[in-house]
Order: sequence, then C-alpha cells, then structure tokens
Amino acid sequence: MLRRQAFHPLAAALESFGAAVLLSLAIVFPAHALDFTVAVDAREAPRGIIHIVQSFPAKAGTMSLSYPRWIPGEHGPTGPNLDVAGLVVKGGGKVLPWRRDVVTMETIRFDVPAGVGNVDVTFDFLLDNSTAGFTSAACATPNLLLLSWNEVAFYPTGRKSDGIQCQASLTLPDRWQHATALGTVSSGGAAIKFSPCSFTTLVDSPVLCGRYFKTVELAPGDSVPVRLRMACDSEEGLKIPDSQVDALRSLVREARTLFGTQHFHHYDFLVTLSEHTAHFGLEHHQCSDDRGRERWWLDDDLRRNHSNLLSHEFVHSWNGKFRRPVGLATGDYFTPMQGDLLWVYEGLTQYLGFVLAGRSGIRTPDEARDGLARAAAQIEAGRGREWRPLVDTGTEAQLLYGARDAWQDWRRSVDFYDEGLLTWLEADVLIRTQSKGAKSLDDFCKRFHGGPNRGPEVKPYTLDDVIAALQATWPYDWAGFLREHIYEVRPHAPMNGITAGGWRMAWKDSLGPIQKASEVANKEVDESYSIGIRVDDKEARVIDVVPGSPADQAGVAPDMKLAAVNGRKYSSDVLRDAIAATPQSGRIELLCENKEFFRTYLLDYRGGSKHPTLARDNGVRDWVSEILAPHAH
Ligand SMILES: [Zn+2]
Repeated sequence: MLRRQAFHPLAAALESFGAAVLLSLAIVFPAHALDFTVAVDAREAPRGIIHIVQSFPAKAGTMSLSYPRWIPGEHGPTGPNLDVAGLVVKGGGKVLPWRRDVVTMETIRFDVPAGVGNVDVTFDFLLDNSTAGFTSAACATPNLLLLSWNEVAFYPTGRKSDGIQCQASLTLPDRWQHATALGTVSSGGAAIKFSPCSFTTLVDSPVLCGRYFKTVELAPGDSVPVRLRMACDSEEGLKIPDSQVDALRSLVREARTLFGTQHFHHYDFLVTLSEHTAHFGLEHHQCSDDRGRERWWLDDDLRRNHSNLLSHEFVHSWNGKFRRPVGLATGDYFTPMQGDLLWVYEGLTQYLGFVLAGRSGIRTPDEARDGLARAAAQIEAGRGREWRPLVDTGTEAQLLYGARDAWQDWRRSVDFYDEGLLTWLEADVLIRTQSKGAKSLDDFCKRFHGGPNRGPEVKPYTLDDVIAALQATWPYDWAGFLREHIYEVRPHAPMNGITAGGWRMAWKDSLGPIQKASEVANKEVDESYSIGIRVDDKEARVIDVVPGSPADQAGVAPDMKLAAVNGRKYSSDVLRDAIAATPQSGRIELLCENKEFFRTYLLDYRGGSKHPTLARDNGVRDWVSEILAPHAH
C-alpha cells in the first residue's frame, strides 16, 4: 500500500524542535499563516462516529474546499467521501449554504459574504465496521482507534498538499493514550494539540490511540528513535515475548545495514491488535499503520501469518515513500495516480520485506523458504498470466485491489507483489552469480535509496532511473530483462531466482509453517495444487478454482458450496482425507450447491496431497540462504 511529496523545511523544523521553540516560531509565523485548523473529537469513536470542526481563513467571494480522494499508499481513489455527514459551513455567525460539484463529488463550494474573514466547517465522519478494505475500513473498537487524518479534513481545492499549512488537535476518550509521528505542542487538558505542519505531513501521520497501550523501544540508545506502539482490545494481547522484541530490534539494524541510511527523524510502528478492525498495513515516511489480530504476539500461527507485515511496511519508508514512481508522486489528493511501476514500489518492497524478515529472525530460514515456495506456487498457478503481462496488474491496481476472489486465478490479482518478489529475487541472484558474490541487490539499494538523512522527502523515479541504477550496480541487459519479465505476457512464473539460487520447487504432502499459519488465520483450506480449489472453511464455500485443474475440468466454480465429499458431509478433514486417498481411488466426488441447485462433480485426480515446498539443489550455490542470513553487526 501507499504515496506523498516534496520535503518541506518549515514542517521539518517544526517537527524537530520542542514546544518552547515552537512558541517563539509562532511569533515569526503568525496564526493566519495556517490554511486551516482541524479539531477532532474522537470521544464517540467506540460507537462509530467522529466529530470535526475545521476553521479556514476566508475572503468575500466563492470558496471551494475538497475532501481527499486519492489516498497515498492505497494507490487508488479510496477517500471515504460517502461517510461524511452533517456538513455545515458557517461564517460571520450565519450558515453558508454549500453545493457539491456535480462531477468532482468531493468538492463543495459556498459564497462568503463581505466582511467575513473566517469560516468554520463542521461535520461528522461515520466509521465503517467492515473488516475488508484499507484505512477507511474498520479502525475503531470500544478500546482503540487508528485515526487517519485524510478522513477528517477538507482542504483548499486544487492546492498541492506540501504548500498547505495546518494544525490539528484531538480529543480522546478518558484515560486513552496515543502515539503519532506528529510533533505535539501540548497534551494537557482535554485536547492534544499537535505541531503545525504541512497537509502532506498530517495525512502521513495517523494517530494510534487506545485504552490498552504499550510502547517498546526498538533502537535503544540510538539518536534516531524507532518504536513499537501498540493499542489492543485487551491487556493480554500487549504481552509481546522478548524473542519478538529482539527480532524487531534486529529488523531495525538490518534495514539500516541494507540501505546504509534512513530518511526519517524517528519512526513508529503503529500496531493495532484487534479482531474487529481491518487487517493490512499502510506505509508512511515516519510511521506505519499496521493492523493485525489481537493475539498476534501470543499465537504462533497468527504471528507467522503477520511475519512479513512490519518488515514490508518499514522498507516502504525507503522504497515507496522516499523513492516513488513519478506516477504515484502526485503531490496532492486529487490528481489520479498511475500504478505501472508498482512492481518496483510494491514488488521490490515485498522482496526486501521477505529478505529482512529472514535476516532479522522474524522468520526462521524454514519459514522464509516456505513463504517463498507458497508465493511461487500461487503465482505459477494463476493462469491469468497467459493473457495479461505483470505491468497490467499495476496499471489496473486501483480496480484490482477491490476485485472479487472468484476467478482471481484467471483475472489475475495484484500480482505485482509476489511476482515482483520473484522477479527481484531473480535479479539479485543474477547479480550475485555473475559477480561471484562481489555485488548484490544490497548495492542497488544503497545506490537507489541512499543519500543523507534530511527526514521525510520524496525523490521520484522513472523506469529509466531503475534501469540505470541496476546497470550501475552490475552491467547487464536490464532493459531486456525487465521487458521480458514485466512488460510481456509470459506463460510461466519467474523461477530463476529460486533455481539459480540453489533450490527447486517440489511438492510434499503436508503444509509448511507459513502455509499452515495462513490457513489457520484465514480459516481457509488451500488445495490449489492438488484438485485446484481454495475453500472458505467456515462457509464450506469454494473461494476460487485454478484454471486447468481437475476441479476446473469437472465444472466446479467459485462460490459453490461444498455439501459433501465422496458422500460424506464436508469438513476440511473429510476433504483432505479424500485427496490423500486419490493415489488409490483415482477420483473424488464433490456434491456442490450452486444457488439452491445440487449437483455431483466427478474429479479425475490421483496425485494425492500436494503442497509447495523448496528442495535444495546441491549442485548450485545456496544464494537464497546467503541472502536471508543476518548481515548487521
Ligand atoms: Zn506495500
């Protein structure tokens, strides 16, 4: 996920100085230099409603305000304008009637009478309880809230967000704590008052708040602090084991070793632990919004299922926030984004997140390889690759993120993540092999993501810049490599990183640790590689069918209900036992319900249980293990 724009010296100065300095700066920069203030009252967040008052300087004439539409990191027009309610504009003590633009629906206009120098905009933001989606999906429970500022602020229409100065305040339920990358002017009294900043910085700096709250230092003694901030639905869920704290501290050291620098003054992992929020990660320059399950740190399967999240989001501070494709560095929240370089933005991040999870010990080598095997098998199974190149999944990302699961293997999904991972692994192994270990993608990262730490800034890039940095790392026909891997239809997944890295794809009859964790966490049964179906275990519903698989050939379709397997009522055990017996039986009968109508499907299959794994190829140097081994000292 993600996006944002150029460095603002005033905002950085305000962020890095203390409150006393702020007071003196306030004399230099008087209050009217602010383009708006926003006061958020989140005391009713537990019941799903947030109250907002914004104040804007005004002058006589028509005035226009807009609500953010294109959300950084979400790569799409996902601003939840629909959940703005009770909007009233007032000036000079009178209500000023507003009207919505008939085309650009997040924009409103109203007429400011002569003599009115200020308008107040009040509205409520209605919180979504859906756990599917990104920041605008479920973000609050009776015990916690992740506040995204883009959801609670209008801004002057048409202005670049770097050039908009604003100041925010926030009122929380009694005894709730909070954390944010924003500077704080004062937190005594009812409202927390944050430092003035650009609108870019505000939107980039969500606030995590809650009743059960814990902070853990991840770079103790370092001049650039990195912290784990957690809000949870219980006190129990905050009890992160020491071994996991050690792994996260190692993540910080490994990331700094990989990139050789950083582009933040401080960094906060804002971790929400709840069964009632959406589960995903959204990157920012100096923090990330990481929403996971309540017992993430207590349950090994949940921990493994989240084991790529924090490393992925941390990498984004360098790759995605600091270095960003020109088409995603729009500098505002109204210009449409272009996702054709998401295979770099998300794909390289997916690869480096995988690498750093291994190097830091967040994942054991066995877990890291299992994650790789799973990604490779999924990407290879997707037959949508026969009609659309990888780049097209990035170009259409803003639609594909919201696509149904049904027929995903034929439509393709946001494959730039995991196919990007495989492609960047292949590039890394190629550089290591050809240079006999003298060079690697680590050198590319130091070159591409390096430079002095001036705090948050954006350095946009084009495809040519990526090719040039690869070329400078190791001379090769990188334009040809990328054309073939990214821009052309290719019938098979890029597997050379695995095979030239000392391993080969193989099958075994049991699930690896990451695959098992995913099944347990998501309550799914993945038989994509045997009979070719993925099942929602709770609903006994076919989530998707692999094109060309035995299930596909027999006529099974997504969204059918699995009523029975070989004459016995469906359960995951009944299904898996039947699959395991196919070397003898040679067939499986699935009784499926399709919109009230039942039919038996006969699957011709004798391959038994099949789950992807990696097997060592002793004839080839084990680059994969060298890539995943600890590097930091
Ligand atoms: Zn991402």
